[in-house]
Amino acid sequence: MVVGDRVKISARGAELLTRETVLSRRDARNRTRAIAANLDVLGVTIAGRPPSPRGYVDRVIVAARAAQIEPFLVVNKCDLDDSAELFEQMRSLFAASDSSVPVFAVSALTGVGLDGIRLHLSGVRGAFVGTSGVGKSSLLNVLVPGLDLEVGEINRLTRLGRHVTTRSSLHVLPGGGELIDTPGFRDFVPVDLSPADLAAYFPCFEHALDQGCRFRDCLHRDEPDCGVIEAVAGGELDAARHEIYLGLLADLERVAERQARGARS
Ligand code: GDP
Ligand code: ZN
Repeated sequence: MVVGDRVKISARGAELLTRETVLSRRDARNRTRAIAANLDVLGVTIAGRPPSPRGYVDRVIVAARAAQIEPFLVVNKCDLDDSAELFEQMRSLFAASDSSVPVFAVSALTGVGLDGIRLHLSGVRGAFVGTSGVGKSSLLNVLVPGLDLEVGEINRLTRLGRHVTTRSSLHVLPGGGELIDTPGFRDFVPVDLSPADLAAYFPCFEHALDQGCRFRDCLHRDEPDCGVIEAVAGGELDAARHEIYLGLLADLERVAERQARGARS
């Protein structure tokens, strides 16, 4: 069982119900481990400082969508100029592409924008992922009254020590909705993304994909009559988006090849 699992209790005992969604990560031994079950939404958290690696947001969005979980983007630390700029970038990127990834500007420090997040979470079950230092603990602390997670670089070491004992937890929010916090979410790296997932779910391709590709399994690289390539050529899709996509595609193909070789030997 993982946090978020539902069970049916009866005279015969407890029965684990089918998971509607499950989010996984890879453990130190390269095995796939479920982190949380039955999530509805996933808040990909970023900040101007520290920046997340190139492609991180896209990867998590693809992973969430492949798991039938709706992603949203949280730009934290908007009290700082770097983050305010990043928010404008993200907003124009995702709004312009009509990608259905909502983008929120917040500050866990000043409280700005948090009501938007509360509203987005009301009636659903969510979680925040993001690289270290973007402010996930700070966000959880302000959204969940009484929660007292340690925050900041200074406590990084002691917090690592606490990871071993930290239990996964599910918090009910005052405005309705639930937030899951598990050690597995810290520094979340998506796993098991196939090139086909990427091709189907890459953010900002939505509109181009509506136009369709000739081949059902089109990877939008150099195939003829590809809706994505045509959208880039026609200026409706930013070429930079396509380049990021091609980089991620090459990464995933390398991983898939390595796994196939491992399985054969
Ligand atoms: P986590 O590693 O993602 O859990 O990040 P933390 O919550 O530990 O925060 C990392 C650092 O960013 C800490 O020093 C926080 O005080 C700081 N921080 C978090 N949220 C904000 C914010 O909205 N504004 C500013 N200026 N700093 C923040
Ligand atoms: Zn295509």
